[in-house]
Amino acid sequence: MSDQADSKDRSQLRQKQMIADHFALLARAKEDGKKVVYTFVPGNLTELIGAFDMLPVLPEINALQSGMRKKSAGYIAEAEKAGHSEDVCTYVKCDIGMMKSGNIGPTGTKLPEPDLLLLSYTGCFTFMKWFELLQREYKCPVVMLHVPYQPDGRITDEMRAYVVEQLRRDVIPAMEKVTGRPLDVDDLARRLALSKAAEDDLVAVWESARHRPSPIDGYFGGVYYVGPIFSSFRGSEDAAMYYRELRGEVEERVARHEGPMTPDGPVKERYRLVVEGPPNWTSFIDFWRMFSREGAVVVASTYTRVGGLYDTGFRHDPSRPLETLADYCLGCYTNLGLPTRVELLAKYIRDYEADGFLVNSVKSCNSFSVGQLLMLRQLEQKTGVPGGFIESDLVDPRYFGKANIENRVQSYLQMLDARRGSSAPHAATGVSP
Ligand code: SF4
Repeated sequence: MSDQADSKDRSQLRQKQMIADHFALLARAKEDGKKVVYTFVPGNLTELIGAFDMLPVLPEINALQSGMRKKSAGYIAEAEKAGHSEDVCTYVKCDIGMMKSGNIGPTGTKLPEPDLLLLSYTGCFTFMKWFELLQREYKCPVVMLHVPYQPDGRITDEMRAYVVEQLRRDVIPAMEKVTGRPLDVDDLARRLALSKAAEDDLVAVWESARHRPSPIDGYFGGVYYVGPIFSSFRGSEDAAMYYRELRGEVEERVARHEGPMTPDGPVKERYRLVVEGPPNWTSFIDFWRMFSREGAVVVASTYTRVGGLYDTGFRHDPSRPLETLADYCLGCYTNLGLPTRVELLAKYIRDYEADGFLVNSVKSCNSFSVGQLLMLRQLEQKTGVPGGFIESDLVDPRYFGKANIENRVQSYLQMLDARRGSSAPHAATGVSP
């Protein structure tokens, strides 16, 4: 967590090194003869990619990194100049703009061109359009894994078999063709076992938020925690080690009764919130401070489950390699129908004893934003906990109205105060940004 004022934990240093090493590998992929796969975060098949010794590139991660590094506005302008409409998801435009500006990745080195575009389709139609655009540029093969939507929160045998059949018939042969080697099933199983270990530890981290105070922020801090498991590292020894260390650090915070770390140091918990929707990346630290300065701690969020929903029980299972990959893809948050999403949020509100829940509706992302007002109403009815609604965007700074969002957050927290009849002073951390 590069912006934290405190000295870095071992897990943070490890993650930083993992990212640097991965981008260094990508920078010399062509000279090392390594094959490169571009693929998306939800429904990613990282263990399978690793079993073929290929290197993944996640365009959404590059886009959010560009947002955090204040480069996305320029990239989006570049894409709009090339004819992409203002309404298109800004991750797509950021990625296209980055590509047209030299394809320099987050660590400042050039990203290699893909040898394969692996389109794992988990509920977002934009993914298809995005890779159509990339295919025109790169002229490399595309392989698609069609993952059926879960309308009622159940994975049927037919759905699983349909995905497994595509893995066998389309995805694995495409990877074998690109790499010139057969799938090493034992290596895939070894990686899946490492994933399971990391997932166990990540769930322990999420569940630590049941403590009062919560030792973690499960949204602003949580996006750093999911970095390795959502991106290129699931199924690696490094990722397993990262989550083991992170869990240990969080358990130490619990023992010391400490709240989460923020960019300005530890926060004293006054409000416990659940958040639905992705964060804004262009003003990420400002956005976080709107909450941390007020002592508002996010105890659970859905965005941190978008690349894998583990706290409802799913784990990668090395004894059924293809079936478990299918179940993973089918269970991604954006692949779930609205009733399942509402149930999940209601469970978070109850399990983590939240005082309130907030929806951050981002302009770009229909996969998240559709139905959020309805979800808000249903959640209020189900839980009796008051909801709030704010609007921003992922990486387009034109849609982050700082004063407006800050006003709304403060009014919402004051409303929570009024509801519980609190007379405590409003500012909790005593830390100036
Ligand atoms: S619309 Fe949402 S899920 Fe789809 S690519 Fe954009 S950010 Fe991702």
